[in-house]
Amino acid sequence: DRQVYTFGGGVKHDDPRAKDKVITGGKGANLAEMAGIGLPVPPGFTITTEECVKYLAEGGDFSDQLRADVAEALTHIETTVGKTFGNPADPLLVSVRSGARVSMPGMMDTVLNLGLNDETVEGLAATSGDDRFAWDSYRRFVQMYSDVVLGVEHHLFEEALEIAKEDNGYLNDVEMSADDWRRIVKEYKGIVSAELGREFPQDVHEQLWGAIQAVFDSWDSDRAKVYRRLNDIPGDWGTAVNVQAMVFGNMGDTSATGVAFTRDPATGEKAYYGEWLVNAQGEDVVAGIRTPQYLTRAARERAGAKPLSMEEAMPEAYAELAAVFELLEKHYRDMQDIEFTVQQNKLWMLQTRSGKRTAKAALKMAVDMVEEGLIDEATAIKRVDPMALDQLLHPTLDPKAPRDVLGKGLPASPGAASGVIVLDADTAEKRAEMGEAVVLVRVETSPEDIHGMHAAKGILTARGGMTSHAAVVARGMGRPCVSGASGLSIDMKSRTLRMGTRELKEGDLITLDGATGEIMAGEVPTIEPELAGDFATLMEWADRHRRMKVRTNAETPADCRMARQFGAEGIGLCRTEHMFFDAGRISAVRQMILAEDEAGRRAALAKLLPEQRADFQAIFEVMAGLPVTIRLLDPPLHEFLPHGDAEFAELSETIGIGVDTLKRRADELHEFNPMLGHRGCRLGITFPEIYEMQARAIFEAACDVAAASGEAIVPEVMIPLVATRRELQILKKVVDDAAAKVFAEQGRTLDYLVGTMIELPRAALMAGEIAEEAKFFSFGTNDLTQTTLGVSRDDAARFLSPYVEKGIYPRDPFVSLDIEGVGQLVQLGAERGRATYAGIKLGICGEHGGDPASIAFCETVGLDYVSASPYRVPIARLAAAQAAL
Ligand code: ADP
Ligand code: MG
Ligand code: MG
Repeated sequence: DRQVYTFGGGVKHDDPRAKDKVITGGKGANLAEMAGIGLPVPPGFTITTEECVKYLAEGGDFSDQLRADVAEALTHIETTVGKTFGNPADPLLVSVRSGARVSMPGMMDTVLNLGLNDETVEGLAATSGDDRFAWDSYRRFVQMYSDVVLGVEHHLFEEALEIAKEDNGYLNDVEMSADDWRRIVKEYKGIVSAELGREFPQDVHEQLWGAIQAVFDSWDSDRAKVYRRLNDIPGDWGTAVNVQAMVFGNMGDTSATGVAFTRDPATGEKAYYGEWLVNAQGEDVVAGIRTPQYLTRAARERAGAKPLSMEEAMPEAYAELAAVFELLEKHYRDMQDIEFTVQQNKLWMLQTRSGKRTAKAALKMAVDMVEEGLIDEATAIKRVDPMALDQLLHPTLDPKAPRDVLGKGLPASPGAASGVIVLDADTAEKRAEMGEAVVLVRVETSPEDIHGMHAAKGILTARGGMTSHAAVVARGMGRPCVSGASGLSIDMKSRTLRMGTRELKEGDLITLDGATGEIMAGEVPTIEPELAGDFATLMEWADRHRRMKVRTNAETPADCRMARQFGAEGIGLCRTEHMFFDAGRISAVRQMILAEDEAGRRAALAKLLPEQRADFQAIFEVMAGLPVTIRLLDPPLHEFLPHGDAEFAELSETIGIGVDTLKRRADELHEFNPMLGHRGCRLGITFPEIYEMQARAIFEAACDVAAASGEAIVPEVMIPLVATRRELQILKKVVDDAAAKVFAEQGRTLDYLVGTMIELPRAALMAGEIAEEAKFFSFGTNDLTQTTLGVSRDDAARFLSPYVEKGIYPRDPFVSLDIEGVGQLVQLGAERGRATYAGIKLGICGEHGGDPASIAFCETVGLDYVSASPYRVPIARLAAAQAAL
């Protein structure tokens, strides 16, 4: 295979490798592509990524073959341009540019004007008739090459230039004359020989090979390695090298350089967007030395700016550019990010690639392009990153509002929230009940804080990463969260907190931006998300293309309603225990838990029955006949216990049992390893009356709502943490008996399903047997991950991120399913379950139900539905469609 590919100057390749990003890198492939469709691209050649990998592996030697190929390719440039590399009379100059498969900061910076030396600079001056241009180009080259290839620090050059300008009384580079630049070049070369102990290379071939080598070596630079690690880019891709004839944007007022997008990358609007500079080269536009000018007249007028737009100043070159924009969009069928140069009114294209865009823009462009006939629905669906939708579903801070920023943490859960600071969960709940908007501020959160997190508009923690308890729970609840705000300290005694130099107290107003991690004093106004328009259109398309259903994990009528707005087609997981924390009934729950015997428990359960029935009624009403899976009580009982003497005293008062007895019972409930302890169906086995009450509440509620609404309500009763068939058999009977009693009392019957969660490895292995008792399986991948990996999700934050950094797990397995490992159990459970009962309904209800990669896996297993927290429902709808396409 060839390792050097030429482009431009009318070369036609039939070798597909020339336009393959994997071989010639993103930049090289697109340059070849643009040249191929007849766009004005300065001729050049690309050395492949394969050659880079080989060079690095073989310890940095160029092969004779490569030297020969490069010499031949250079001749191609020379004949196309009509100039010779190193010719003192009329030199060819080139740029040397790196270009990996994906655009990658950290790689070598581009070197421009290569091929200049003390002799060729005179030839450039003579042929261009412009001394100043020639010496300006040379000084740029010496600085760039010395910095990028030779490793001389660039500030040395910048200081020398500053001093020269000061001595001359100049403010701007443009005031420098040809002679001034000539003197600067001399000085620059002096800097190089002083720093390196050798002269700046005058041999143009030495210059070229030095630059090629620097590009290859930059693949293994520390900067590049860090970037690759952070972005999951494999180390064995390598980078290509592009060598290309120079065109000059710095040849006076008819020359320019610029960058542009074919549509607005912030809004998605179909309007050219970009910046350019007259008489400038390369990175001047982005370097911030001069203020760039607007591309279009409309943009300039909107901004009220004076310097002419390109449309006005260079109408012909602009018209040509606009035609190129149209052509490129038609060709690539996507918004393009473009780099161009105008040399004496002639346009040259130097780069194109798919442009980065905000979520909002991605959505608008995808929908617009379908309407324009540029792409089909399937392409539109694939083009929007499901996770990016998260940005769009939450209220966001009004970008126009002023912000008094106190500090910053990690953007742990998106959305914006304002409220008064509260420092503990109980206070959060109390103040929220009184109608206040509160922000819960903690050093870190634990499962005991759930009620406070639920009551809060937003959550701020001083410690903890993106997968800390606070972060995971907040994302699940759709609460904005900023975690790990290291500048934050909390003093619980004085109930104050400090952020940087600022002191605040409980009750002060703050605002969190969960998308950026910013923490602000006071209230910053928010704007509501836009769920109609483009969003609705894309979702409709996604719904048409997906096979799996999307349900939600929700247990309050408000969350259910929201999830339905987001398109949920049922409830995949209604966790009944969350209902038990309600202020009005926690004492009955505690009475039930602390009761000495069954009679005591039944008395307490009788108080809970009407409450639970009302819960389920409300949910069945909101869900209007859509499937609802209700999980019977799951957590270890001690999670409900009173905290502290005051709560024990209060409970003793309410239920008439002495404090000492209560405390003794509470001690008896203590467990060393509660997540593997007396929880899930084990509660049902030991205290069947609890599940009996819950089942009764479900069926009574279902009968009531069915009678009132005329809808067919088909409750799905789910038994958690089953490991054996016998457990399910016993508990199914409890549920069936309760159903029979209720139906007899009510004089009506309903269809219902009893099923189980598959969340223990044993359950997955025994799924064939368990399916004899189950009408459905819901893979509870949170616990299944925890039990399969033997990793406690509540303690994992401390060591999981190093695990991910070291590549032990590719991603946090509690966020994205460990497909290799846990995935096997899911697959096996599904297969064995289906083998026993072909009609078994299969779903997933862990955090993973809202994670696109895990959803793609669920599609391959053929699950019937995924269930995600309400805010993840649209993400799941889109991801399920992508998985099906
Ligand atoms: P990056 O990957 O950092 O964008 P590039 O290789 O695209 O680096 O080079 C940066 C800039 O240098 C380009 O946008 C262009 O303005 C300028 N440049 C590169 N090659 C040439 C060339 N052959 N002629 C003129 N300008 C060039
Ligand atoms: Mg570029
Ligand atoms: Mg579980």
